[in-house]
Amino acid sequence: MPAPRPSESAEAARAAAQQAEFNEKKWVWVPDDKDGYLAGWVNKEEGDFGEVIMAAGGDFRTVPLYALSKMNPPKFDRVEDIADLTFLNEASVVNNLRLRFGSGAIYTYSGLFLVAINPYQSLPLYSDAIVQQYRNKRRDENPPHIFAVAERAWVNMGEERENQSILITGESGAGKTESTKKVIQYLAAIATDVHPSHSRSPTIVSSATMPNTGLPRSDSFRRGHTVSPSMSSGGGSHLTARGRLGLLERQILQANPILEAFGNAQTQRNNNSSRFGKFVRITFAPDGSIAGANIDWYLLEKSRVIVRSEAERSFHVFYQLMAGGGALKENLLLGGGIEDYEYLNKSRREVDGVDDKEEWSALKGALDTVGLTPAEQSDLFRIVAAILHIGNIAITSTRADDAVMPDPSQAERVCHLLGIPVAEFTRAVLRPRTLAGREWVSQARTKQQALEELGALCKMLYEKSFGALVDKINLALDRPSSKSTFIGVLDIAGFEIFEINAYEQLLINYTNEKLQQFFNHHMFVLEQEEYAREGIKWEYVNFGLDLQPTIDLIEASGSIIGILSCLDEECIMPRATDLTFTNKLHGMWAAGQENGVRHPGCDKYEPTRFDQGFIIQHYAARVEYRTDGWLEKNKDPLNDNLTRVLAASSDRYVASLFAEYADAPPTPAGPGGAGNMFTAGKKRAMKKGAFRTVAQRHKEQLSSLMTQLQATQPHFVRCIVPNSNKKPGRVDIPLVLDQLRCNGVLEGIRIARLGYPNRLPFVEFRQRYEVLTPGIIPRGYMDGREACRRMVKTLELDEAIFKIGTSKIFFKAGVLAELEERRDML
Ligand code: ATP
Ligand code: MG
Repeated sequence: MPAPRPSESAEAARAAAQQAEFNEKKWVWVPDDKDGYLAGWVNKEEGDFGEVIMAAGGDFRTVPLYALSKMNPPKFDRVEDIADLTFLNEASVVNNLRLRFGSGAIYTYSGLFLVAINPYQSLPLYSDAIVQQYRNKRRDENPPHIFAVAERAWVNMGEERENQSILITGESGAGKTESTKKVIQYLAAIATDVHPSHSRSPTIVSSATMPNTGLPRSDSFRRGHTVSPSMSSGGGSHLTARGRLGLLERQILQANPILEAFGNAQTQRNNNSSRFGKFVRITFAPDGSIAGANIDWYLLEKSRVIVRSEAERSFHVFYQLMAGGGALKENLLLGGGIEDYEYLNKSRREVDGVDDKEEWSALKGALDTVGLTPAEQSDLFRIVAAILHIGNIAITSTRADDAVMPDPSQAERVCHLLGIPVAEFTRAVLRPRTLAGREWVSQARTKQQALEELGALCKMLYEKSFGALVDKINLALDRPSSKSTFIGVLDIAGFEIFEINAYEQLLINYTNEKLQQFFNHHMFVLEQEEYAREGIKWEYVNFGLDLQPTIDLIEASGSIIGILSCLDEECIMPRATDLTFTNKLHGMWAAGQENGVRHPGCDKYEPTRFDQGFIIQHYAARVEYRTDGWLEKNKDPLNDNLTRVLAASSDRYVASLFAEYADAPPTPAGPGGAGNMFTAGKKRAMKKGAFRTVAQRHKEQLSSLMTQLQATQPHFVRCIVPNSNKKPGRVDIPLVLDQLRCNGVLEGIRIARLGYPNRLPFVEFRQRYEVLTPGIIPRGYMDGREACRRMVKTLELDEAIFKIGTSKIFFKAGVLAELEERRDML
């Protein structure tokens, strides 16, 4: 061992002084509404209460003892892995993140998670030099980083020939999409310079399967204080590797600006908010080079094309086309500017610091790189333009309240772009024909109905075109082969709890419940394996299954049904409304409980008292849902007159988008006026693929995602938004705590605490704590296990708080703090 440098010994002395000061008092975290937690020490205890002197200000507070959390000794400040903290409580977790964030360390591990806090400023953390710094390194050889996660996935894939997944979640603005891009940047860079003969570090496997290894490692504590020198020195451009990247790698990187143009929008929370979820798989050939890529997408917020709040924008592509379209705009009959289009002029038009014209050039460049032909590109923009024109179709009412189109020229523009006859289009919107019994009848629409129909058409056009775009990208990038393996990156909205929670929130929260279950189960399996490897006897509940009742409550189908199946059933009931649906739910779950009928997840469901809705107990929180509009949202209907007109379009692209409706049978007139597929009677509506409900589609997609994830080795990234003002350097602690609760970090810690979260190899334990048991271990060789046994005996540790395995000793939370304290008292 080299002699410590002066700065190190100075630091050691300072650390010792801090520790001594710390030991003098009984330090705790006191809950505080504004700051989350404040530091203080217990002055005296009386009954169930403690009198605490606050560190800042010195005032006294009387606090129930259960509300106080123990503070970790200063040695644990800024630990790189939260799981290494000896007191695992919310306050300590958030304090650690705050301290680290304050010194520029935005990444921190928490057992199996990487926690990433959005810095809201460009940090020199992603240069090519940093990429190199993470190459072939174990997790503990570098400061926590998203690159380390990508590196580990890459190495595990190579060594174990197993597919990998990186699951990134967080709330809007937390940095999921940026993190996804960093992962892809890293993989593209390292896959470009692979050699078939490239050797990989053989030790990595063990670090991958040991989430909570080693504590306390003096080196990691020291390094934890600041960002490492090489990281803060920056250097290298953002993508210096770009010049060396091959075409395929560039195509994969360029798929992103395309997806963002069509799928992202400016919202109140994020200027570049993804309005869809995605799972991007990068496939690799056996030699480690990139073989292709594939994108799956989920839950596009298509309603945004017609409405949004005033402070937000529609999807970027609309503004980009308007700003940069030039001659193309003329072809698309787009005269004038944003102010002239009803679907754009009612809300915000610009994003601070973004030039839509430049973005347009970037989009065109990306489309060219990925290889969409000019004709394919024009297809996409034709749909965008058609939507803007549809938004401008004026509808008025006759005296009899029938809808009319006073100015046919607008519909003519639409029909010109969509390749459909104006007369048929107009009729389908204003007076669709339906089958009443055996006769065809034309039913006049009201103005409101016609406008809704046009809105529904725009939503469907946009979503279908988005889907077709992703298909095209996949066609260009996807080269599946039996020998390839993949790393999949999931960028999907995290748990959402708003003031009013709608159907969209249920689908997102259901997804997150499943992902959390997947995490819990994975953690359970790894812990089990580790305990089994170490020969430790251990009774463990499977925490993945903990969440199953809530999941069943939402997704069960078959003889017992869940909320989504119940919604599907109501969607085909003749006179069903959101209220009948809600009452049916209440009947099944609230009453079902009383009558002893076992519906899944009974104790996770409650009717709401005042509004039309219900409450679900999710792992993250109780969430109240309001059921207004659920039937319509789930049916997602478009009248079949319109779909048939579109399916018969002379424009091949438009016809292809609606191909599934081409041979659709006519629909009898339902109670709601002209028929849609859901008033057509149960059997047929359910039979055809095209008529699936939103719930059915999402369940299927999610189940396919889960199947894929289950066949991978997962890695978890949790992104955190530090404040609600998009500002650098500010941390709103209650906001961060809410997110830690929702994103499963605290849930993960809860589970860890039930086991033996801190663990040390025998050698390390002996090295660090032998000073506490002088003379117990004879000089010369002694079996590590036996040495540990003697030490814990002398230390008089209770049997319940430790376990001795075959190579490591395991501790309950808090034990190491006590040993540290004893050690410092010497
Ligand atoms: P949404 O759910 O709305 O799509 P998101 O989690 O994908 O949100 P991002 O779009 O990735 O959020 O991030 C929001 C913004 O925060 C980015 O546009 C960028 O300005 C900033 N940001 C995020 N991560 C980083 C980072 N690592 N470094 C610098 N800035 C970042
Ligand atoms: Mg995003």
